[in-house]
Amino acid sequence: MSEEKIGRIVKVSGPLVVAENMTGSKMFDVVHVSESRLVGEIIELVGDTASIQVYEETGGLGPGEPVFLSGAPLSVKLGPGLLTSIYDGIQRPLDVIAKKAGDFITRGVTAEPLPLEKKWDFVPKVEVGQKVCGGDIFGTVQETTIIEHRLPVPPGISGEVVKIESGEHVIEDVVCIVKGDDGKEHALKMYQTWPVRISRPFKKKFLPDTPLISGQRVIDTFFPVGKGGTACVPGPFGSGKTVVQHQLAKWADAEVIVYVGCGERGNEMTDVLMEFPELKDPKTGEPLMKRTVLIANTSNMPVAAREASVYTGITIAEYFRDMGYSVALMADSTSRWAEAMREISGRLEEMPGEEGYPAYLGRRIAEFYERSGWVENIGTESTTGTLSVIGAVSPPGGDLADPVVQSTLRVVRVFWSLEAELAYSRHYPAISWLNSYSLYGKAFDSYLIENFSPEFPANTAKSMTILQQEADLSEIVKLVGAEALDASDRLTLEAARSIREDYLQQNAFVEEDTYCSPKKQDLMLKAILVFEHEARKALGRNAPFAKIENHDIREEIARMKYIVEADVEAKIDSIIERMPKLMAELVSEG
Ligand code: ADP
Repeated sequence: MSEEKIGRIVKVSGPLVVAENMTGSKMFDVVHVSESRLVGEIIELVGDTASIQVYEETGGLGPGEPVFLSGAPLSVKLGPGLLTSIYDGIQRPLDVIAKKAGDFITRGVTAEPLPLEKKWDFVPKVEVGQKVCGGDIFGTVQETTIIEHRLPVPPGISGEVVKIESGEHVIEDVVCIVKGDDGKEHALKMYQTWPVRISRPFKKKFLPDTPLISGQRVIDTFFPVGKGGTACVPGPFGSGKTVVQHQLAKWADAEVIVYVGCGERGNEMTDVLMEFPELKDPKTGEPLMKRTVLIANTSNMPVAAREASVYTGITIAEYFRDMGYSVALMADSTSRWAEAMREISGRLEEMPGEEGYPAYLGRRIAEFYERSGWVENIGTESTTGTLSVIGAVSPPGGDLADPVVQSTLRVVRVFWSLEAELAYSRHYPAISWLNSYSLYGKAFDSYLIENFSPEFPANTAKSMTILQQEADLSEIVKLVGAEALDASDRLTLEAARSIREDYLQQNAFVEEDTYCSPKKQDLMLKAILVFEHEARKALGRNAPFAKIENHDIREEIARMKYIVEADVEAKIDSIIERMPKLMAELVSEG
């Protein structure tokens, strides 16, 4: 990094610094502002005058102070040591910074993103003489007890391996030398750098055909997101947004989690910083952090840093995708990121679009979500990896007409509508079954048939029909009461209630209920539908509705969610098998 070239500040406006004499710099280059060397990025360049978005507090800066050019774009360091890390938006480890500067990030503090002294046991995966190209895994290290870090040859390099060294190494050691096709030697270390605003390359992108199973019934059954897909979850305060995200982080069948937190108030982030490291990975019993990278904008960093954090996060996520992992990135909340864009745009005096957001808001949001995907990696062998992106949005007043929500909905394929009304009535997760959607349609059917059951897709559709019928009937019920309906409609209401209460409601804090396997979801739904079906048959043969409504079996259905996984088959099958007889008995009694 050459830092000799010097520009001069002409104006400071909050996080925006304007500097002249910036010849030789490029858009999105990193610069260091003033003698305190505050980190910033060039976001507008006119002649030799640059507008710089500064990621640290600019208080006290003034015209005349120097600006140092780095000549490089904002980049992240990718290598072992990422997992378990908690970074700020520009990949500075918070714990290292805290040690250096106390609890507050003092300006201009630098900190290495990856541990430089730690030795990793490097295991070669290629041999001398072998041809390799970008994306090929040339070696591995056991990064944490859960995740093996697979080291990809950096994109753009191809040639023959002329040296490779197994054993204990620090990340700066050269562990492999590739002689390029042009005769040039490339020394590979255990890390590479990558500019955050450029997506990492892949060969091909496929339409997701596998759902990211979350163990959360409302999601897996009605609104699944694809592995490599995108989802948006608007979260009014107290609606259970954090719980949904923690549940996904814990239970979704993604191997690596990247969590980007852009909190508004300091304490929102403190919650994440306190809670996340406490979470356990249910599959291994180990801390969840062993397969997690956390990026947090602390309250003492200016809003502009949120911009960087979103890109830092997705680049790290892409890197793990390139190793062949399934990765899930959660961004909470993208509204804060959009607000940062709005603030900077305002200071640049750009033409404002809707609600003062810049006209390019939609494009930026789309570009971000488009970095998701189920992709074939660029290496010699066709390996695939997935990156699923789940973005929380917090529109003011929960208003879905908000430009950030609207821009997001245009690109994501799944929408989980968390609703305050459901949360008030303690229906958790408060995901509306009527307003949410998943646009994957039948894409997951073959997966569901194989992993849930052949009837699962049909049962899902049937259950949704019942819920919609309930919604249609609700107007009449409000006017005249449920008693005025005929028995058939009342049965529909009872079946709908069972789907809502016995199936969709799921308590994240009850051990038996917090995660629901595909098998359990399938059997639970089947049991409710068998009840509906047999009860309707019995009604047709004049069985009294009151006896159906108050039948003991309904209590058993309500308790299905608390059946431990090991007993699920025996116990729920028994309910299903007894149902025809139990309902038929009501006919003869009646
Ligand atoms: P938000 O992040 O949207 O402000 P939280 O995720 O903190 O809301 O949820 C608020 C409260 O709602 C939680 O503390 C919890 O008591 C309850 N809650 C939310 N989701 C669930 C759930 N799936 N199971 C049980 N309780 C839940």
